[in-house]
Amino acid sequence: MENMSFFKRFFGHLHTINTHRYLVMKMCFRCGMYRQGLLHDLSKYSFSEFWPSVRYYQGYRSPISREKELKGYSECWLHHKGSNRHHWEYWTDRIKGYDHVISLEMPFEYVLESVLDRISASKVYNKHNYKDDEPYNFFMKSHEIRVINKKTNTQIIKLLEYLKDNGEEKALKYYNSLYKQYKRDGKEPIL
Ligand SMILES: [Zn+2]
Repeated sequence: MENMSFFKRFFGHLHTINTHRYLVMKMCFRCGMYRQGLLHDLSKYSFSEFWPSVRYYQGYRSPISREKELKGYSECWLHHKGSNRHHWEYWTDRIKGYDHVISLEMPFEYVLESVLDRISASKVYNKHNYKDDEPYNFFMKSHEIRVINKKTNTQIIKLLEYLKDNGEEKALKYYNSLYKQYKRDGKEPIL
């Protein structure tokens, strides 16, 4: 793995992000989220994200994990979460009235996009071993260390739980109905 050629890492990573974006797009479209489907993760093609990812490419997990392992942090990730609203980390900052970093509530359309993002990432890295409970299990594994906003956290868990218990077909229909309801009422649906 370590001495994979540049050529292999370059096209390997390009294939990963194209496949990931395609899967997210398909699911976003099924939920009626067309703009988000088209724009999802475009920053991965930027200089600050693409080159470090090629450098730390391994194929079986995110290059961000590899970069963090080696350096303790990932410049690629700092750029990515700062540019993409579907990551709860995007919504963290020092806010007036607090003396520490806090996590704001993530708007519901991004909660949905983050769930689709997790499904797609699980599929890309687990390939044929992917099952509907994988995104849920992955999310719960690193749970206790999170400073994620409580409400956002509960929403993500409930949406992933629905997928785990009902399968993808039903889940996408459910997410679609939630998104429609959200757009119609102008407030987030109760899960
Ligand atoms: Zn992302």
